[in-house]
Amino acid sequence: MTKQAIVDKEKCIGCGTCVSLAGKSFKLGDDGKAEALVPAGDDEPTVQSAVDSCPVTAISLKE
Ligand code: SF4
Repeated sequence: MTKQAIVDKEKCIGCGTCVSLAGKSFKLGDDGKAEALVPAGDDEPTVQSAVDSCPVTAISLKE
């Protein structure tokens, strides 16, 4: 099963990269910051690519 992602809204700058890369696992909320969708709808490498591509390392993965 794909690990659940967690977005730290304090760090997120709303760039949208995670949504572009893994749109079934992240969305931008009304506050313009990313939110992790539960459950994540992308496979793990896709979610991982979003984690790795976040410019402010706001996304972490929960085991
Ligand atoms: S990639 Fe990072 S900074 Fe950009 S919207 Fe996603 S969580 Fe926020």
